Amino acid sequence: ASGYTLLRDPRHNKGLAFTEKERDAHYLRGLLPPTFVSQELQERKLMKNLRQYEVPLQRYVAMMDLMERNERLFYKLLIDNVEELLPVVYTPTVGEACQKYGSIFRRPQGLYISLKEKGKILEVLKNWPEKSIQVIVVTDGERILGLGDLGCQGMGIPVGKLALYTALGGIRPSSCLPITIDVGTNNEQLLNDEFYIGLRQKRATGQEYDELLHEFMYAVKQQYGEKVIVQFEDFANHNAFELLAKYGTTHLVFNDDIQGTASVVLAGLVAALKLVGGTLPDHTFLFLGAGEAGTGIAELIALEMSKQSKAPLEETRKKIWLVDSKGLIVSSRKESLQYFKKPWAHEHEPAKTLLEAVKAIKPTVLIGSSGVGKTFTKEVVEAMTSINEKPVILALSNPTSQSECTAEEAYTWSKGRAIFASGSPFDPVEYDGKVIVPGQSNNAYIFPGLGLGLIISGAIRVHDDMLLAASEALAAQVTQENFDRGLLYPPFSNIRKISARIAAGVAAKAYELGVATRLPRPENLLKLAESCMYSPSYRNYR
Ligand code: NAP
Ligand code: MN
Repeated sequence: ASGYTLLRDPRHNKGLAFTEKERDAHYLRGLLPPTFVSQELQERKLMKNLRQYEVPLQRYVAMMDLMERNERLFYKLLIDNVEELLPVVYTPTVGEACQKYGSIFRRPQGLYISLKEKGKILEVLKNWPEKSIQVIVVTDGERILGLGDLGCQGMGIPVGKLALYTALGGIRPSSCLPITIDVGTNNEQLLNDEFYIGLRQKRATGQEYDELLHEFMYAVKQQYGEKVIVQFEDFANHNAFELLAKYGTTHLVFNDDIQGTASVVLAGLVAALKLVGGTLPDHTFLFLGAGEAGTGIAELIALEMSKQSKAPLEETRKKIWLVDSKGLIVSSRKESLQYFKKPWAHEHEPAKTLLEAVKAIKPTVLIGSSGVGKTFTKEVVEAMTSINEKPVILALSNPTSQSECTAEEAYTWSKGRAIFASGSPFDPVEYDGKVIVPGQSNNAYIFPGLGLGLIISGAIRVHDDMLLAASEALAAQVTQENFDRGLLYPPFSNIRKISARIAAGVAAKAYELGVATRLPRPENLLKLAESCMYSPSYRNYR
């Protein structure tokens, strides 16, 4: 290959880091200025440039440009500066990027499978240059973060999630495949946007939708085999639960919004118990939002409580209450409820608002998973504080604009007593002369390690016990020093170590359950996980 091609290939390009020898051997003479620049210096230069942008979206575009120009440098930046760059390639900025995806679109970063490709999906998969794929993140764009239906422009989410699979979980970039399934959009604004990149039609539903997804799932299995992970991401709940149930028995699938979120929140709650006391079954939980995240978390908490207390699930579920757009979910509403809400319809008087529900249920833990911002009002936080010495408050909705409350609000309104974490990051808050650091309760802690664990064990199915194992491994990583600063999660700066431990826990569970295919079982799973991780350092070309 010519040197010119080498410079334009993001997987191999090193920019000014090509050595003299490499410049001679690969016909690069004259194509580069004379200076040699190390990867470390390139990194410093790029971070300096990035920090000069005032608008977050500019940082996003600069990072995506880098990914398409020099992949190893992109991952080196992301890994070495994870706390600073996570909000750029992930929530909250990725939300804005999706909203404006049509305008900032440069090159395809994944596969687009639309209704037009019906009957040809296998051929479409074959168009992707990489043949050995380990992880697919797929969305149909109907519920992007808390921003609603963004149609085809939801592609930013699979791209961002897979960047984290590599940076946080060490999965090779070449084995990651972002996919957007385009069945139309019901977003009028996008349908009328001249820069919209998707199909200009209302969403296909029913049989038409089911058939496209079915073709997709079997084409994936045919092309990549039994052990490719398919992560469903940001589907609307009227499809998400069914897809998970339907393909959970035939494919290696998991839904990050339902299962990954559940695992990360359970870990945060287990950690919170060290600060507030009691065991999980001693607590009472109230959710605002009874969709994928809400009911997914609720079910995993109930499962863990049932394992701990040996009580049946039907009993442990009674400590958990959910509020949806119509108010508290109670038994008198049971007939009209979607099936995933029915297990939570307990005997109680109706309550219209969250505030009424808080006063009636007296929860020790309040969890926001509605996608609606500013719903944890001063009154709600004050009510939680009057009921509890240390109220646990999790505002999970993303991006920041949809957060149920800010960290500052949680701490101020609770007079510094709240144990708080949020889905999108908030800066530390000074309250009463003390600096409190809010934790980030985001499934990014879980899915990269979970995925790595599935891969190293060769697992062919995801089981709830693996989610519990992931959760336990994460909770075990919170140190006393973290607790002292008010953190429910370890900092993201250690995430690769954390992911390796999660992977080891998940893999061990896969062997225990008999769904692992990499045999015999490697003795040291943690070592294996660590040694498998992708390193972004440049290679030497001879
Ligand atoms: P979803 O399945 O659409 O569920 C949303 C739920 O919120 C529904 O039960 C809905 O009620 C309820 N709701 C909507 N507006 C409400 C209102 N004004 N008052 C009370 N309830 C209301 O969505 P999801 O997948 O659970 O996601 C929800 C949010 O969680 C999103 O913002 C997402 O970004 C965030 N999330 C965060 C993480 C994380 O790691 N931190 C992970 C996943 C999701 P009805 O059922 O009555 O319509
Ligand atoms: Mn999601």
